[in-house]
Amino acid sequence: MRPRIGITSWLRDDSDRLERWAAVRDTYVGAIRTAGGLPIILPIADDDSGVITDCLAAVNGLVFTGGGDVAPAYYGESADVRCHEPDRERDLFEIHLARAALARRTPVLGICRGLQILNVAAGGTLYQDIGCRPGTSPLHATRGEERRKLIHAVRVLPGTRLHAIMGVAESRVTSTHHQFVKDLAPGFRATAESLEDGIVEGLEQPDRPFLVAVQWHPERMYQDHPEHLALFQALVAAAEQLRG
Ligand code: MN
Repeated sequence: MRPRIGITSWLRDDSDRLERWAAVRDTYVGAIRTAGGLPIILPIADDDSGVITDCLAAVNGLVFTGGGDVAPAYYGESADVRCHEPDRERDLFEIHLARAALARRTPVLGICRGLQILNVAAGGTLYQDIGCRPGTSPLHATRGEERRKLIHAVRVLPGTRLHAIMGVAESRVTSTHHQFVKDLAPGFRATAESLEDGIVEGLEQPDRPFLVAVQWHPERMYQDHPEHLALFQALVAAAEQLRG
């Protein structure tokens, strides 16, 4: 049995808004499959009946996927006008899932919003928009076709798990985020920073079996860039190693 890797999903309206979809971009599924894991798409649920405990029991590892803004109330701020409307159901589910995964030491890979959710769930904070910190590059917040481009560069910090996984000191990456880490959660450390402006582009919890997160989108890059496939392979390997 391949290691089962849960992938967080989101809710999407049909164009006519008559139906909602529990959705995941297929690139996440493809990346986990290519890395040797069995992708398990996790639907958003409230935790009235212990669903989150059951989710964690059903998987050996987790990917927290990209998406919209986390409600600033989770890190003690009121929403800036530049903060996008949060998805309350998704926020609630993912914050609870992240805290439960942290408590259980489930191997976790966070991507973009996933990095931000992990940081907030563990007590960190975010900048609500690029404009909140003077000198921050506008290149982080690409749209449309630009999302596929390797739009800016990151420095992968030596001595980190991320560096050991990727095996490179620098990488050009995709970037689709207008929020970013302000204060790292207690026990987390930065593992990568943007070459353009020094913002946090990666984090990890060093004293855990596997908690690695990146602000870019390795699921858009893994087919052409082995150092980004390596992130998914490292998650699958940790899930394999730690399962009962
Ligand atoms: Mn970026």
